[in-house]
Amino acid sequence: MKICGRCDQSIQGRQKYTTHDIPSPSGPGATVYLHVAPCKRVPTQTTQDSLYH
Ligand SMILES: [Zn+2]
Repeated sequence: MKICGRCDQSIQGRQKYTTHDIPSPSGPGATVYLHVAPCKRVPTQTTQDSLYH
């Protein structure tokens, strides 16, 4: 199952999506899936809070 990296919802088989490859310097990169249709971004819980202050 694919999870949309923007709205954090599962991507159903008949929903269109795009992929973004994220290279990682410390191992294999990750692939992020995003709905093609606009979807609502959910707040991400990261350690980068300072970026949004
Ligand atoms: Zn989405």
